[in-house]
Amino acid sequence: MTDRMNMNPNLVLLSSLGWENEVICVVCQNCDWRFLGGIGKIPNECPHCHLAKLEEYPGNDFSMMVDFIKPPELHLPFSFPVSQLLEKIHNYSKNIPFAPDDLSLENLQRRLRKIYLPMWLVDSNVSATWQAECGYYYQAKSHQEKFSHGRWQTQEVIETRTRWEPRLGKLTRTYHNISAPALEEHRPLMAALGNFEYEKAVPVTTAALMNDSAQPALVCIPSRDKDDAWPDTLPRFQEQGSEESRLACAADQIREFRWKAEFSNQNWSLFLLPMWSSYYLDDENKPQSILVNGQSGQMSGSRRASMKKARKVSLAILIAALIALALTVVVGLISLTFPDLTVVAGIGLVFSLMIALAAIYPIAIAWSVNRER
Ligand SMILES: [Zn+2]
Repeated sequence: MTDRMNMNPNLVLLSSLGWENEVICVVCQNCDWRFLGGIGKIPNECPHCHLAKLEEYPGNDFSMMVDFIKPPELHLPFSFPVSQLLEKIHNYSKNIPFAPDDLSLENLQRRLRKIYLPMWLVDSNVSATWQAECGYYYQAKSHQEKFSHGRWQTQEVIETRTRWEPRLGKLTRTYHNISAPALEEHRPLMAALGNFEYEKAVPVTTAALMNDSAQPALVCIPSRDKDDAWPDTLPRFQEQGSEESRLACAADQIREFRWKAEFSNQNWSLFLLPMWSSYYLDDENKPQSILVNGQSGQMSGSRRASMKKARKVSLAILIAALIALALTVVVGLISLTFPDLTVVAGIGLVFSLMIALAAIYPIAIAWSVNRER
């Protein structure tokens, strides 16, 4: 390795970026997600698509990926208690009727993986001219006539109104830690995981990220570059600019904020969000992901019932109905000789039909579960 370093002066090793020597980069050949993880602590299969093995990134030169694999600046720690997580998973697996055989607490627990999802954070100097309408509250006194106790009475009413005034100005500021999605799948992931409390973010060392002995984590590598992410930050910068302009004008509200902004001295870093992932296989052996917010515990996963199981139960009920019908026919034949039994045969017929109808029930339930989402 030393020889190769000498041969290529531009070679960038993970360790030279600040990761420890035991950290490697792995890639999923199916979904193309890339992760950093500790040697010997990498799961066999991809924790995102669950369809392929994670393979080590070929070579040891990361010069093309430097921005994507820089150690993160901030992270939200996994703070949702594991005991409650297991309880949630247990309830999840219990609450799917005709659950596929693979959907068991043991399987879900064994396949649990800790993953840090990346977001971009950008600092930038902003120099802008802006214009807006600033709103100022004022108290207005008015009178209301009210008819009570047989006569008209005048009541004084004080209400808060807003006076809007046009304003314009210049602004030169540095804004820090404006966030933007770093993964193509950011939106669906956030929809599944719900909100994170960003204010609980804390700085993190690479050692602390990788050395959790109980359950080692994988750090997901961004799939969107800065150029893709930059437009997403603009509304955030504008929100901050608008709020600061409101404060500068000592206004109570601001609307119609427009600015011409120039950005300079951008500094990009990464921010990590905690997520648990697991999965089970449905009837067709297709992995169904279960995702849990590592901070709030919000859980999301597609519920798939096993149609095979439901059909078996339906078939058993149908067989019971046929047996009941066969008995009814026998009783019906006997009733030709003993007319008193006609009533029994009649009841038997109704009973058989009811059982036959009940046979639809398991299939209908499984079908309605599989139709969700
Ligand atoms: Zn994958």
